[in-house]
Amino acid sequence: MPTYDDQIKAAFDPEAFRAAGKRVVDILADHLAASDPAVRPRVLAYEDPETMLAAWANRFGPAPSTPFPELLPEILARSNDLLHPRYVGHQCTTALPLAALAGFAGQFLNNGSAVYEMGPVNTAMERHLVRWMAGLAGWGTGADGVLTNGGSIGNLTALLAARQAAADRDVWREGLGPEGGGAVLVSEQSHYSVRRAVAIMGLGEDAAVPVAVDDRFHMTADGLELAWAEAGRRGRRPFAVVANGCSTATGSYDDLEVVGEFAARRGLWFHVDGAHGAGALLSAKYRCLLRGLERADSFIWDAHKNLLMPALITAVLFRDGRRSYEAFSQKASYLFERESREEWFNFAHRTLECTKTMMGLRLFASLAAYGTDFFAGYVTAMWDLARDFAARLRRAGDFEIAVEPESNIVCFRYLKPGQEDGNTLQRRIRRALLERGTFYVVQTELGGRLWLRCTLINPRTTAADLEALLDEIRSLA
Ligand SMILES: *Cc1c(COP(=O)(O)O)cnc(C)c1O
Repeated sequence: MPTYDDQIKAAFDPEAFRAAGKRVVDILADHLAASDPAVRPRVLAYEDPETMLAAWANRFGPAPSTPFPELLPEILARSNDLLHPRYVGHQCTTALPLAALAGFAGQFLNNGSAVYEMGPVNTAMERHLVRWMAGLAGWGTGADGVLTNGGSIGNLTALLAARQAAADRDVWREGLGPEGGGAVLVSEQSHYSVRRAVAIMGLGEDAAVPVAVDDRFHMTADGLELAWAEAGRRGRRPFAVVANGCSTATGSYDDLEVVGEFAARRGLWFHVDGAHGAGALLSAKYRCLLRGLERADSFIWDAHKNLLMPALITAVLFRDGRRSYEAFSQKASYLFERESREEWFNFAHRTLECTKTMMGLRLFASLAAYGTDFFAGYVTAMWDLARDFAARLRRAGDFEIAVEPESNIVCFRYLKPGQEDGNTLQRRIRRALLERGTFYVVQTELGGRLWLRCTLINPRTTAADLEALLDEIRSLA
C-alpha cells in the first residue's frame, strides 16, 4: 500500500502529468477528428436520466479506481458532441479547441481573481477584454465592466446597478423604501433570467412588466407605452427597460433606437440583453442589428454563445463605468468614487462572485492567436447560414418558418398535409431526432404553436448538413 506521502508525490509528479496530459490530448484530438457525420453519425447517444445515473454509480471509493485517461473515453461516448457539425440545438457553442487548452492552463494555474494580487495576469486581461467589448458597442473611454459567470448573473448585476442609479436612497444599506422597489419593463420575449433577476431583487416577479411584441418579435413604441401604463396600474414606477439584442427563442433584435428613445423620454435605465446576439458587433455586415446600442446604459455579452468559448464567460458592460460599482456597493457611489477609480483591479467589488476562474484567459488567448477578424468572419458566416437555411425551408414547400431569422437562430415546422395536430407532430419529430441522435435540435413554443428550433453555432455546419436534416425530418415524420 502506498503511503500518503507516496500518493502526494505521485499526484504532483511532472513526468506522470506529462504522460497523462499527452494521452488526454491524443484522445480528445481523435474525438475531434471523428466529429464528422461520415465518421461518427451520432451527435449524442441519449440515455434516460436513471440509466445515466446508474452508469456512474459506485465509481469511486477510498482507494483509487480509474486513471483519468481510462475514464475519458466513456465520458466522451456518453456526452453530447458539440464539436459535431450536426449539433444545431441549444445556444451552447462548439468550443475552439485552443480555448479549451487555454482554459486548461488557467485551471492549472488557478489564479482565482477576487482581488488583483490573487490573479494579476487575469485581472489585466479582463480589463482589456471589457474595454474592447465596450468599444465595439460605440462607447467612450468612460465605459467599463466585468466578466462574470453567465448571462443570468450578468442581467442581475446590470439591474442591481440600474435600481441603485434610480433610487434616492442607498438601497444596498437601507433596503427598499415604503414606496416599494419600482418595476422593470421587459419584452415578453425576454430570457427568463431577467424576470428571475427582478424576483431575486425582492421586487416580486410582478414588477417585471411584459412588453408585447409585434409579429417579428420586436418591442414597439406603442407596446412600451402600454407597458408603462400597466406598471402604473400595478402601482409601480418603472426604473429600467430591457431590450433583446437578440432574443433567445427566435433570435430577434429589438429596435434599440426605438427602445432608447423611449427610455430617454421616460427617464429609464436602458439595458440590452446581448447575451446571445452581441457578437454581431464584430460583423461589418450585421453590426447594424445593434444600432442604438451606443445609447444603452448597460449590456451583457456571452462569449460562450457567440465567440466560440467554453462556458462560462459573460461581460457586463456599463456606458458609465462608475455605475459598475453600484451593483454590489455597500456605500453610495459618491462616497467612494475616488476609491473606485483606484480599485478597478479588485473585481470582487463589482461581481457577485468572490473567487472567479481565469475566464478571460480563454478569450484573450484565442483573440491573440487568431485575431479579431477571425471572430468577425465566424459571426458573419453563422448569421448568413441561418438566412440561407430559412430560404431553403421556404423553397422546400413542406416546411414553414416562424419568422425571418435575424441572427443564427431559426424556428421552423414540418407541414404534413392532412395529418395530426401540428404541435404533436413537431414534438414527435423532436423526440425521434433525440433518440436517433443524428442531429440535435430543440423546440420552442410561440403563441401556442410548437416549433423546431436550430441555433447555427458550429462553424463546421454546412448547408449540406441542414439539407440532410430536412431529409431526416421527412423520413421520421
Ligand atoms: C442564454 C441567454 C441568457 C442566459 O445566459 P446564461 O449564460 O445561460 O446564464 C440571457 N439572455 C439571453 C437573451 C440568452 O439567450
